[in-house]
Amino acid sequence: MGLTEYRCTCGATLRYKQDLRRERGTVYPAWKCRECGTPVPGQVGEKLSHQHPS
Ligand SMILES: [Zn+2]
Repeated sequence: MGLTEYRCTCGATLRYKQDLRRERGTVYPAWKCRECGTPVPGQVGEKLSHQHPS
């Protein structure tokens, strides 16, 4: 499968775990853009969190 990419509203392209900031949610972890703090859709965040630069 190809890499998932997510284009944030701030213009940052999120690809890897380190591009995200993890916020501990009450039920499940919430993912946010590391640059601007905009929430990333949960499914996308989960996928990105498993991606690492090789
Ligand atoms: Zn952003």
